[in-house]
Amino acid sequence: MKTRFTLLKPAVALAALLSLLSLPALAETYTLKLAETWGPNSPILGDTTRHMAAMAEKMSGGRLRIRIDSSNKHKAPFGIFDMVKAGQYDMGHTASYYYKGKIPSAMYFTTVPFGMIAPEQYGWFYYGGGLELMEKAYAPYGVLSFPGGNTGNQMGGWFSKEINSVDDLKGLKMRTPGFAGEVMAELGVAVTNIAPGELYTSLERGTIDALEWVGPALDLPLGFHRIAPYYYSGWQEPAAEVQFLINQKSWEKLPEDLQEILRVAMRTAAYDMYAQSMDMNASAWDKMKEEYPSVEHKTFPPEVINALRQATEKLLDQEAAKDPLVKEIIDSQRAYLTKVRKWTNISDKAYLDSVAPQQ
Ligand code: CA
Repeated sequence: MKTRFTLLKPAVALAALLSLLSLPALAETYTLKLAETWGPNSPILGDTTRHMAAMAEKMSGGRLRIRIDSSNKHKAPFGIFDMVKAGQYDMGHTASYYYKGKIPSAMYFTTVPFGMIAPEQYGWFYYGGGLELMEKAYAPYGVLSFPGGNTGNQMGGWFSKEINSVDDLKGLKMRTPGFAGEVMAELGVAVTNIAPGELYTSLERGTIDALEWVGPALDLPLGFHRIAPYYYSGWQEPAAEVQFLINQKSWEKLPEDLQEILRVAMRTAAYDMYAQSMDMNASAWDKMKEEYPSVEHKTFPPEVINALRQATEKLLDQEAAKDPLVKEIIDSQRAYLTKVRKWTNISDKAYLDSVAPQQ
């Protein structure tokens, strides 16, 4: 045994040396700091950043590491854009529409009421000029932005009473943030902004009559199905895409192969968030119905939808008139939607309409 060991040793040592010389591990290692809007252990959203980081590290043989800070660490869930812009963090994972106040065109890269559904919007991003427009919007700030995952079609919210007409919306106290809130306000809804932690109590005590969050997967843990009888399908966020942000200088420091690895990891993680959302929403809706069979699914009547659509188009036209880039984005999205929806209508929609009665 001893002889065999002695004989093998130089060969093993030589092989080890040779492999060391050719290993990319000898090359420089890069560590990027990422700040996410989400809290620690946030399902779906936080899963996406971790999935992306794990892929990037593995695909780069350990040369690219991404260290993630959740909101409990950096304390600035809606300050991600500023922190990435300033270089305090190299990367961020957040939703573009939180930064409407700083970048007027940022909102349209998340979702638009009555706009595209997720597969249509991915078509726009990757093949219809969306990525180029997003680059144009973020470039003046020294920040790059990439699609970072889709929640899928969001629900219209939890309502304590049925909505049968536009009149039923007048004076309704509802928590619905952002652009959808502005549209609702046009129809007489008293829009309020309440911190996520206080939503359940506010609805239970009647401080608000309705609220909108995301969809079954993320609504289930908050328990709204225990206190609100009606769950409406949405109109306001048909394809909410979150975003990865990267400081331009941090990006430029990376060698070309690591940039490509990062690009692929972000794109794959984004698609995967859409797949995970689909799966978790389905399971969570089942669970809600199991726990509270009385929960009723509703869709807004055509009269309400028409009024919401008119208010949306009016506000979009107003925004477009204020800023040339906003106009360019809205025009691009409207044109793409007109084109792509014709296909969706004769494919997915027609398929579902024709087979649904049998399922
Ligand atoms: Ca929402």
